[in-house]
Amino acid sequence: MKLDSKAMRHLTAEDWRVLTAPNPPTQVEIGSKNHEIVPTPLIESISKLRGGAGRVRHAISALAKVGLIARMKEARYDGYRLTYGGLDYLALHTYASQKAVYSVGNQIGVGKESDILVVADEAGTQHILKIHRLGRISFRTVKANRDYLRRRQGGSWMYLSRLAAEREYAFMRALKEEGFLVPEPLSQSRHTILMSLIDAFPLRQIASVPDPALLYAELIALILRLAKHGLIHGDFNEFNILLKEEPIESESDLEEPKPPSKKGKEVERLSSDPPPDDAEAPPENKVKVTPVLIDFPQMVSMDHVNAEMYFDRDVACVKRFFERRFHFVSTQPGPFFRDAKKTVGRDGARRLDAAVEASGFSKKALKDLEAAIREQQEARGPEGEQDSASADEDDEDDDDDDDDSYPDSQDDGEESDRGTSYDEQAGGNRGSSR
Ligand code: ADP
Ligand code: MG
Repeated sequence: MKLDSKAMRHLTAEDWRVLTAPNPPTQVEIGSKNHEIVPTPLIESISKLRGGAGRVRHAISALAKVGLIARMKEARYDGYRLTYGGLDYLALHTYASQKAVYSVGNQIGVGKESDILVVADEAGTQHILKIHRLGRISFRTVKANRDYLRRRQGGSWMYLSRLAAEREYAFMRALKEEGFLVPEPLSQSRHTILMSLIDAFPLRQIASVPDPALLYAELIALILRLAKHGLIHGDFNEFNILLKEEPIESESDLEEPKPPSKKGKEVERLSSDPPPDDAEAPPENKVKVTPVLIDFPQMVSMDHVNAEMYFDRDVACVKRFFERRFHFVSTQPGPFFRDAKKTVGRDGARRLDAAVEASGFSKKALKDLEAAIREQQEARGPEGEQDSASADEDDEDDDDDDDDSYPDSQDDGEESDRGTSYDEQAGGNRGSSR
């Protein structure tokens, strides 16, 4: 499933009305939570198009053809439900009406759980649109959690993706307010968030840094600072830390020019491209690297029952990466959870875990989301993203998930529970959006 903005341009006002017919109050979207199918006659009656049922059917088939809704056949009645494509459309429409997004550009990342796109507003300023796609890999993998999810609730991945986006946005806001270096949270709609673009590369793509010991200390300090505010990132790996490079142009540098560095720029990026023959002489000025943290839907409280495991895993992840990539091993053991735990709330640090929990997520919803995220992480390997990453450090493509079967597994998995089937003729989203 990839975002397909082309289809959107061809929709007529009537098509739009039919798409949103059961909205407001977002019945198809809430329906998707309960996995309800909106019966065709209901769409007809709510959208009340001039031209009557014939015109509605025409719009329905136009929407189904571009994959925004999908036809479902049930024993009791025929109907349609929103697809991920339709949900994408609704989110983009919201951003467009807020004048937050004017154009959609390149997809810069296909994570296992999300699509990351560069978008721009009317002034041409680029932002990042993160589209959560929980369930992309789930139906092909780990069974235990999947069964849990099915037992516990209707199991709609769209609903859980929406929760993930809401939660990620809430954490991003809280962290930003507290002065953490994270992207600027700009807006949130459905299963997506809009944030500022960080002009930086993930640590994963960095071959060398000026001072690994310093960067290591900064990352450990970041883990401890989060802990003080009651939080554990839960996926603190080299994909989720972006390294901003800033030249240091201090006066002392000017007074005492250093000999040209043989390494050239102090931060070396992994690249398969050889440097051009006429490459300029390496710059002499030093570079300061600053870590910017991203990817927050899985964050957990320091009070979580498994907090120690999550905390230790984040710390171990940094240690392992620094040893493998920079051959740096800290002489200091830890940090340890029991020590970090004592610092929670110290010096008047605001409890961000409590702040986010208080922002309206039900216990059950959080439990469902946690199970879904755990499933995604387990599907990536016993210790998350970092394992697949370190298996082949130079393979920059290993994030690219061949997700061709995603909509199929999505639909098959969900529908089979309910004894429904997907109608190929009307439900045009199979494979159509790539
Ligand atoms: P996932 O949950 O799928 O891991 P992430 O939020 O970690 O998604 O984003 C995946 C990748 O997209 C990151 O590793 C990073 O390269 C890029 N990315 C995400 N957000 C931004 C941003 N605000 N600015 C620049 N790059 C970003
Ligand atoms: Mg990530």
